[in-house]
Amino acid sequence: MSAKNVVITGASRGIGLSFAKLYQARGYHVYAACRRASAELKALGVNVIDDVDVTKDSGIERLANAVKGVSIDLLINNAGILRDEKLGAIDKDSIRRQFETNALAPLAVTEALMSNFSANAKLALITSRMGSVADNTSGGRYGYRMSKSALNIAGMSLSHDLKPRGVAVALLHPGLVGTEMIGGYGDITPDQAAERLAKRIEELNLDNTGTFWHSNGEVLPW
Ligand code: NDP
Repeated sequence: MSAKNVVITGASRGIGLSFAKLYQARGYHVYAACRRASAELKALGVNVIDDVDVTKDSGIERLANAVKGVSIDLLINNAGILRDEKLGAIDKDSIRRQFETNALAPLAVTEALMSNFSANAKLALITSRMGSVADNTSGGRYGYRMSKSALNIAGMSLSHDLKPRGVAVALLHPGLVGTEMIGGYGDITPDQAAERLAKRIEELNLDNTGTFWHSNGEVLPW
């Protein structure tokens, strides 16, 4: 049987880099998309596609061209940003930027690559429990919460729209992970997060498509 193909966005560092390492170790052909390849990513020896800013049409086109003819078994929309806005000092540009990166880009990347999906392909959208309305007990983080909520509803629509093509969709919260995004502190390392998330991806199928999971297996409320 030929090796499976996985495409990962935001693979230069953090959880994306750990996904690249993990799937390479599992024998996948890894297509690691990033804006600029880090030394760690280059050292892996996977297929690196640089200059892929997922908020730019040119970046998405570059990615689509690089995987032309590749049958994609797993697409992981992982790239994301976190900014902080407080009520009374709302920065609309910051919120817009998070929408573009966290909500619009995963949808646009998926649309650009969907004709490459293999039969029984899987789509993982790396979201956050901060996008959960029911789980919001502390307020703040307007742009991040709004953009991840928007990603969640887009993911639910994708789960319906892609089901007839045999593609299962998961909305995945990694947990609190020690990456640059949150200043390096966290409950788990990026490698542990990738390991847990990969378990959820293994469990993903057309019966549970559209589920919002914590990486620990808990189903999260919308
Ligand atoms: P990092 O900040 O470590 O990594 C973010 C990655 O996204 C980097 O590779 C970065 O690339 C990339 N990226 C950002 N903007 C763009 C863009 N416009 N185009 C292409 N790539 C981009 O964060 P994490 O690894 O922690 O985050 C990965 C995902 O996990 C995100 O979606 C995040 O929201 C989510 N998440 C993380 C949590 C955590 O505790 N860490 C908790 C909940 C969710 P570059 O190096 O070029 O900046």
